[in-house]
Amino acid sequence: MSLSSVFDLRKPNVDTKYTIIKRNIKNPRLEFKHGDLFVIVPTRGVFDVEAFVTRHTRWIKKHAAYYESLKVHADKFVLEPRLAADFQKLVISCLDEAAQYYKVTPKELRFKTMRSRWGSCTNTGIITINLKLRYFSDDIIRYVVCHEIVHMRVRRHDRNFYALLAETFPDFKDMDKNLTAYEYLLHKSEVFDYKFPKQA
Ligand SMILES: [Zn+2]
Repeated sequence: MSLSSVFDLRKPNVDTKYTIIKRNIKNPRLEFKHGDLFVIVPTRGVFDVEAFVTRHTRWIKKHAAYYESLKVHADKFVLEPRLAADFQKLVISCLDEAAQYYKVTPKELRFKTMRSRWGSCTNTGIITINLKLRYFSDDIIRYVVCHEIVHMRVRRHDRNFYALLAETFPDFKDMDKNLTAYEYLLHKSEVFDYKFPKQA
């Protein structure tokens, strides 16, 4: 169990707003989550947050710039109000299409709400698709399904994997970027999605 408390501070020497979280940890660390900066510090002892943040200014600026460009990119998209049943139908048709193209036979398709992955594919051919994708565009859904189908041919993200994926999505790098933009939009729409451990 970790103990946490949250403060909002704005320090003049780093023009990125950050939130301090106290936790039962030994070493402090910085974390960017969906564009917001968190400074996680040990619960015990006295810790100079300002000095720590100042020491990592370069790292912070680099990541802040990335999220700024992501925000601008995300402005091009809107979340789709798609029904779960329509989403599942769409996934099944994308799965059939990709399986036929790549000449593979998935054993099972599962849907699940996941925190950190859009899809997965086991060695035995069980494909799991994150239900959160239902808010994203048709082509993003098709892209994620296709990615998992390609894993039935190549397990790892190596050169062969991307060569196969590029047969269907020559612009897969753009698709990844768009997927990240959608993820950002979804996070911003889910105010309560981001959970910290409760104060013990
Ligand atoms: Zn993968």
